Amino acid sequence: MTAIVEAGTTTDLYALLFDLGRRLYVDAQKDIPPDVRAALRRAAERESSEVGRRVLTTMLKAMDVADEHRTLVCQDTGIPIFWVTIGRGFLLDGVRLQEALRAGVEAATCEHPLRSSIVSPITRRNRQTSSGVGVPVFHIEFSPEIDYLDILHMPKGSGSETMSFLKMLYPADGVAGIKKFVLDTVVEAGGKPCPPTIVGVGVGGSSDLCMTLAKKATLRPVGSRNPDPEVAGLEEELLAAINATGIGPMGLGGDTTALAVHVEYAWTHITLNPVAVNMQCWRGERRRARVYADGRYEITY
Ligand code: SF4
Repeated sequence: MTAIVEAGTTTDLYALLFDLGRRLYVDAQKDIPPDVRAALRRAAERESSEVGRRVLTTMLKAMDVADEHRTLVCQDTGIPIFWVTIGRGFLLDGVRLQEALRAGVEAATCEHPLRSSIVSPITRRNRQTSSGVGVPVFHIEFSPEIDYLDILHMPKGSGSETMSFLKMLYPADGVAGIKKFVLDTVVEAGGKPCPPTIVGVGVGGSSDLCMTLAKKATLRPVGSRNPDPEVAGLEEELLAAINATGIGPMGLGGDTTALAVHVEYAWTHITLNPVAVNMQCWRGERRRARVYADGRYEITY
């Protein structure tokens, strides 16, 4: 059962969406999800490297300080990304949804104030709004399994986002090729993604879908397993192999290089075998809201 941070009701959906855009962006950076905190605590208890233990303890302290002073856990405000799932029968204006969430992020950046981390890739101009062409990033999906609006937000830090990898393997490379690629990328990344990470792995689909799956995989709560037993087995095997590399917390050596490995997959072309890796840093930032058709809403992790 996911902890509910706040619940309420609204009569103005778009005003609520503006407020959610504003709050999810900030709160995700201040309040680390309970599953990530618990995983870091467990890691600190069993870490055999003294330096690694010290790094993990410092991370736990950073979260406590952020709780006490209501400050950000890390200075990187990230790139705002929304994963929106619209349930069956939930009626809304999609353009207004995007406008409201985007305006919320922009308002949060000015009011807090937050460092705006978003620039033009050509001119490096920063509008100081955490937004620009194509940002915030929106992934919008529809689900027949829910009847509400689900908004999951991640302000993705650049240290971990830089460590994103895609390879279009051949079918002959098989699952062995997938495992090798994941392990090679984690070793190549070393301490750069601020480990211990949540390693997201996308398998299959097209190149764009594969990377999207990898990133989406990082958003699953730590401790969750893919419902497919074979994929869950792959997650466990990869986690053990990654933690045997000895990269450790912040790359300074130790048993805890990853808190979790999450694999998501899609079917692919007969001649393709794509694999993507996207890492989430130790702060594992995410915040979620559900809005129901009758105006009720809940904010969770
Ligand atoms: S990768 Fe994460 S922990 Fe590292 S600097 Fe960026 S937000 Fe902070």
